[in-house]
Amino acid sequence: MTDPYYLTTPIYYVNARPHLGHAYTTIMADVACRFNAMRRRETFLLTGTDEHGDKIMKAAAAEGISPKAYADRISGVFRELWPALNIRYSRFIRTTDEGHKQVVRYLLTRIHDAGDIYFSEYEGLYCFGCERFYGERELVDGKCPDHETVPEKIKESNYFFRMGKYQQWLIDHIHANPDFIRPESYRNEILSFLKEPLEDLCISRPKSRLDWGITLPFDDRYVTYVWFDALANYISAIGYPDGEEFKKFWPVAQHLTAKDIIKPHGIYWPIMLKAAGIPVYTHLNVHGFWKIDQSKMSKSLGNVVSPLAMKDVYGLDAFRYFLCREMTFGLDASFSEDALVDRINADLANDIGNLFSRVLAMAIKYGDGTVPAGDPALLPQSELDLRELAGRTVSEYEKQMTEFHTSKALAAVWEFIGAMNRFVDYSAPWVLAKDASRKKALDAVLYTLLEGLRVIAGLVSPVMPDTAGIMARHLGLSSGDEKSAAFDLESLKIWGKLPPGTPLLPPVSLFPRVEKKTPHPAEPEKKPAETVPQISPEIDFDLFLKTDLRVGTVLTAEKIPKSKKLLRLTVDIGETRTIVAGIAERYAPEALVGKQVVIAANLKPVKLMGVESHGMVLAAVTDQQTSVVTVDREVAPGTRLR
Ligand SMILES: [Zn+2]
Repeated sequence: MTDPYYLTTPIYYVNARPHLGHAYTTIMADVACRFNAMRRRETFLLTGTDEHGDKIMKAAAAEGISPKAYADRISGVFRELWPALNIRYSRFIRTTDEGHKQVVRYLLTRIHDAGDIYFSEYEGLYCFGCERFYGERELVDGKCPDHETVPEKIKESNYFFRMGKYQQWLIDHIHANPDFIRPESYRNEILSFLKEPLEDLCISRPKSRLDWGITLPFDDRYVTYVWFDALANYISAIGYPDGEEFKKFWPVAQHLTAKDIIKPHGIYWPIMLKAAGIPVYTHLNVHGFWKIDQSKMSKSLGNVVSPLAMKDVYGLDAFRYFLCREMTFGLDASFSEDALVDRINADLANDIGNLFSRVLAMAIKYGDGTVPAGDPALLPQSELDLRELAGRTVSEYEKQMTEFHTSKALAAVWEFIGAMNRFVDYSAPWVLAKDASRKKALDAVLYTLLEGLRVIAGLVSPVMPDTAGIMARHLGLSSGDEKSAAFDLESLKIWGKLPPGTPLLPPVSLFPRVEKKTPHPAEPEKKPAETVPQISPEIDFDLFLKTDLRVGTVLTAEKIPKSKKLLRLTVDIGETRTIVAGIAERYAPEALVGKQVVIAANLKPVKLMGVESHGMVLAAVTDQQTSVVTVDREVAPGTRLR
C-alpha cells in the first residue's frame, strides 16, 4: 500500500542567481517531504527552472550567448545548490526539456479544441519588464507598479484564454474547499481579486517580438506566454497525461510558493486545469518574504553579506533550523546574522546541545556504557511527566507540520527540550549516583532522559537531518540511518522504544557556541617550565579577583586532528564553553568526560589549530607530568573559586 505525497516548489526563473527566498522555499519543501516520509508516505519533491521569455533572451543577448546556453548555466547553479543545502528532490525539471514542451503543446491543443482559446486583435499598454499587458486601472500614476516605467501602447493580434468563463466556478471551488489556499489571508486575497471581473489571459507572443519560447501548436507565428508554459511543469514533470507517476501523485498534489506569485498559482493555474479537464491540486501553500536586515549582518565576517553564505560559516543544520524556526509560515520575517547567532547559542548550543551532552555523559559515567533498563515506577516524584509530555509534543508537532507551520512545531519540541533540562536538574542523577541503594531510581531517570533524546532526534530530523543522524547514532539506534526508530513518526508516539542494553557512544558537541566578539589573534602554546619556577611578584587581592576561576564539568573531549598535544573540550560552566587544552599526551579524551576541572573563565578567546578556545583548563605542569586541577567533591558547574 502506498500513501503518496506530492509537493512542488515554483520553478525558478533563470534571470537571477539563487537567493535566500529560493533557498527558504526549497528547504521548506524538503522539510515537508522528509516529515511525510517519516509518516511512511511515498514522497515526490519537484523543483526546477523556468527558462523561456523575454527577460532570458535579453540577459543572454547582453552576454552575447544563446538563450539556451545562458539558461543551461543558471539552471546548473540552482541544480547544484540544492544538494549543498541537503535538499533531496525527486525531479529537477527545466521548461526547455523536450517532454515538457510536448505537454504544453498537448495542453494548448486540448483547451483550444474545447473552444476556450480564441484569436483577437488587441491594443493595450504593455510592460516589457513584466512581459504582459496592463489594464489602465492596474497602473500607478500611469506606470507599471513593479517597474515604475510607462508601458508602451502596442497593437497586436494574439491568442486569448477565456478565464472569465471559469470565474464563478473558481469562487465556488475556493468556498467549498476552505484550505485550498492557505494560510487563510492568502485565500482572502485571491477571493478579493475575484470580486472584479476576470479578464481573459493573453497566452501568446508574436515571434516577431519574442521567439524564445514554445511554439503554439495551432499557429507557428507565435510562442506561448511564459506563465502558461511554466505552470504546466507541475504535470509535465510527472508524466501527464497517462504516466504512472501522474496517476499516483497528481491526485494529492500540493504547491508551495512565495506570496508574490499567488495570482498565477491561485487563479490562472486552477482555471487552466479545469479547462483542460484535469482535476485541480489539493493545496496552494503560501509563505511570506524574508527581509534582510543589513545593519545586523556581517559583524564578525568582514564583508560577507550573503545570507546563503551563512550556512558555510555557521553550519547547514543551524541555517536550516533558523529559517524554519524564525519565520511564522505565511508572514514576513527578518534575516540577520545577529538573530541567527542568537538562535544558535540559545536554542542549539544551550538547549538541545547541552541536553544531549549532559545526558549522554551521565549515562556513560554512571552506567556501563549501555542504555539502562528503567522502571518508570521508580522515577523520583515529579510534576514533570516526560512520557506524557512527549506524547503531547508529538501530536502538536504533527498537526503543525502538516500545515507547514514549522515554527510552531519546533516551538513545541523546544518546550519538551526545556522540560527535559529541568528534569535533569530536578532529578540530579549525580546525587542519586552517590547512593548505591538508589541505583534503580538512577537507571529510571537515565532511561527517561535517553528515551526523550530519541524522540527529540526524530522530531528535529526533517529540519536538521545531519544532527538527528548524529544523535541517533550516539543513542545506539542502528547506524543512525533513516530506517532507525528515530525516523518513524509512529515509533515516536510509543514511549519506551529505546532498547535497554543498547551501546551508547560518548557525547559530542552538536553545536559549539558562537562568540560574537572578534576572535583574538592566535597565541603560541606556552612551554612547560623546566624547573620549579620562582614565585611571581606580589599582587593585590583585587587584582587576583579579576581572574574568574570556575568549576566546570567536561561534557565532551576529542583529539584535534593533526595535533599531538591538543584536545578540544566542551565544558559546562553554567554555559557551555569550547576550550582547547594542551593535555593530549597525558590524558585520553574519554578519561576527561564527566570530570570536574577548574577553568580560567574570563580569558580572551584564542584560536588554536583553527579552534576557538574560550577559557583555559588549569593544570599542574612540569616536564614529566601534567595533572589537571579538580575539586574534591562534586559542585554545581559554574561555581566560582576564591
Ligand atoms: Zn512591469
